[in-house]
Amino acid sequence: MTEPTFPFRVPFDEACGIVDAVAAERRLQPQTVSLSRAHGHVLARDVVATLPQPPFDNSAMDGFALRHADLAADGAPTRLRLTGEQFAGPDAALTVESGTCVRITTGAPLPAGADTVVMKENTALEGDAVIVQIAPKPGQHVRRAGEDSRVGDLLLRAGDTVTPARIGLAASQGLAQLDVVRRPTVAVFATGDELVEPGMSLGPGQIYNSNRDQLMALLRAEGLEPVAFPTLPDDAAQVTSALRHAGEAFDLVLTCGGVSAGEKDLLPELLQRRGRVRVWKVMMKPGMPLLLAEGDTLGPSLFLCLPGNPVSVLATWLALGRRLVDGLQGRAPRALRRARLASDWTKMHERLELLRGRWWIDDDGISWVEPNPADGSHRMLAAADSDALIVLDAGPRAYATGTPVDVLPY
Ligand code: AMP
Ligand code: MG
Repeated sequence: MTEPTFPFRVPFDEACGIVDAVAAERRLQPQTVSLSRAHGHVLARDVVATLPQPPFDNSAMDGFALRHADLAADGAPTRLRLTGEQFAGPDAALTVESGTCVRITTGAPLPAGADTVVMKENTALEGDAVIVQIAPKPGQHVRRAGEDSRVGDLLLRAGDTVTPARIGLAASQGLAQLDVVRRPTVAVFATGDELVEPGMSLGPGQIYNSNRDQLMALLRAEGLEPVAFPTLPDDAAQVTSALRHAGEAFDLVLTCGGVSAGEKDLLPELLQRRGRVRVWKVMMKPGMPLLLAEGDTLGPSLFLCLPGNPVSVLATWLALGRRLVDGLQGRAPRALRRARLASDWTKMHERLELLRGRWWIDDDGISWVEPNPADGSHRMLAAADSDALIVLDAGPRAYATGTPVDVLPY
């Protein structure tokens, strides 16, 4: 290969910077979605309150609305005349005069004149009289208009992820739709002459395609609706044709396998010739062969080519693929967590490592992570037994038990 004209064999942090830059250049457009479809999207615009919340003074309890000044100052029981009922629903426009009270339910508008609610449990009924046995404090059990938010308050920010609580908040403003960033469309390809789909029978030298369904699940976990294509053979003409078609139709074409240095690894050559490579080879373990390119003559898509080993797919997706998809939507990269290593670990090689391990928080609130010694990128059982990537910085190092490290739970 002639000297590459693109970032090649770059440190992991530099690859993150390139992914962020590419994502920022290709930030996806806003779209309006109904509230029922908004969960997990990234907000494209701030949401500002146009209603106070609560919109009117209302009761926080089932009980009786009263005037606090009517209650006996020494805390003795007070008898009030019951003059009406205000349930949650239409405002009956009642007034509480001195010495009277109105039956009220939770969420019902507070009648004029009332300033306090006594809960039902602290009263007794005698004919049309209510005996207040335990006096509420002034203003107790009244939810004041605007105490949660006022007109003009910033409720949600562009870039926030839409969570169920934020959907509830938007609904409370009467919003039936939200402006969110469009999610990227993603095509998924596995490559390799050795691959057979699960459910079929295996011939000699063949293995099952683990990556396609693993990747589909990883993508769906991000709320994406990826499209899986038939597995590509290691054949240049077929790979070119398939990627050219997908390159016209999707925001992101995700491949796995065929991106390394073997005779049948066709993707680097294809993407150097037909695309515009933004980065190839990241100094990470696993996942070094990763390649990110713009489609150029393959179409307007972005191409993210992950290595073939299933654990490399998992690690590169979580560390860089998801970061790309987040960035395309204007979402900040996921925060890493900290944990203490639960056993000694000797890191021998130069590259940053994303080791698999089990992560937990002990009874004292200290988080720990136990690295799995089966660290080969084909060790799927170890990855499946684990629930976090342990980030070990570049360079060899002996880690003692208890050393704090970054972890990325999965
Ligand atoms: P490659 O990068 O294509 O040379 O693949 C690296 C290793 O990953 C090889 O051992 C492949 O057989 C294996 N591999 C590639 N793709 C898949 C896949 N979809 N499922 C399981 N293993 C794969
Ligand atoms: Mg291959």
